[in-house]
Amino acid sequence: MLLTTIAGSLPKPSWLAKPRVLWAPWSLSDAVLAEGKRDAVRLALLEQEAAGIDIVTDGEQSRQHFVHGFLEAIEGVDFARRVTIGIRADRYKAEVPTVTGPLVRRRAVHADEVRFARAHTTRKLKFTIPGPMTIVDTLADEHYRDRARLAMEFARLINEEARELAALGLDVLQLDEPAFNVYMDDVRTWGIQALDRAIQGLRCRTAVHICYGYGIKANVDWKATLGGEWRQYEQTFPVLAASRIDQVSVECANSRVPLSLLGLLKGKDVLVGAVDVATDAIETPEQVAATIRSVLPFVPPERLYPCTNCGMVPLTRDVARGKLRALAAGAALVRKELGVRA
Ligand code: ZN
Repeated sequence: MLLTTIAGSLPKPSWLAKPRVLWAPWSLSDAVLAEGKRDAVRLALLEQEAAGIDIVTDGEQSRQHFVHGFLEAIEGVDFARRVTIGIRADRYKAEVPTVTGPLVRRRAVHADEVRFARAHTTRKLKFTIPGPMTIVDTLADEHYRDRARLAMEFARLINEEARELAALGLDVLQLDEPAFNVYMDDVRTWGIQALDRAIQGLRCRTAVHICYGYGIKANVDWKATLGGEWRQYEQTFPVLAASRIDQVSVECANSRVPLSLLGLLKGKDVLVGAVDVATDAIETPEQVAATIRSVLPFVPPERLYPCTNCGMVPLTRDVARGKLRALAAGAALVRKELGVRA
């Protein structure tokens, strides 16, 4: 009970990519890069294990960008046609590739990464890929010209990929959908349908991570405009509760989300963000435990998974390591109080 996990990413070693930069370019190339990525995955797994994290990830060490990593292997997405657009309702600018033709997945995108991670940890393994709505929001489209239709096309590709990854021994497949917090009407009309299509028939547990973004300035500024209470989840949770997804990962540490809203996720596992990724201050185990305790009135302990608020890629490795340890130690404190085991 109260098994710990992380949203997905960890900082990369400085010999692999420039530290503290989102979407940082690689420091290595070719075969040396491939070897460097694998070494970084081993370190990411070891550090999570050493900290006491129960459900580990590869730290997303093999991808430069959490959306474009998946798109790089998809035919119909042209990376030579990059354009700069406003994403997440124009919260920030990003350089994105363009959809120029029918979408086809010619080969598995992440199978080698999952196979490698699976071979190097005995813990439960989670892998993250972007969700359909977030993909659609992170590229330009000159072919389908219909966001809902494009999302269903990506959902089909994600599903093909996810089935192959699950067969390699994944315990949890997580779809990252930060866009779910931006386009609430679209979530209802097509976002959930695309999400359900993406996980259709999967044999492993499935999760969706919706959040208020990495701790970068554009997000911190945006959060400041959301008012004293963040009630976006009030619209999204009932729709998610009716979906096929097993687990929902949300931001709870230092957030203004009224925790009572988590009660709307009845029947789902909740990955409770108990570590703030927008600050370098390392939580104490007691602070993590306090966040977990504050959620317990709304989420039963057998459905509660202490987690990070979001990806830790923009942090330093030392800070991330400290936060991992605090997360595991905080969960252990609450387990002791409840008299339950991991
Ligand atoms: Zn996030």
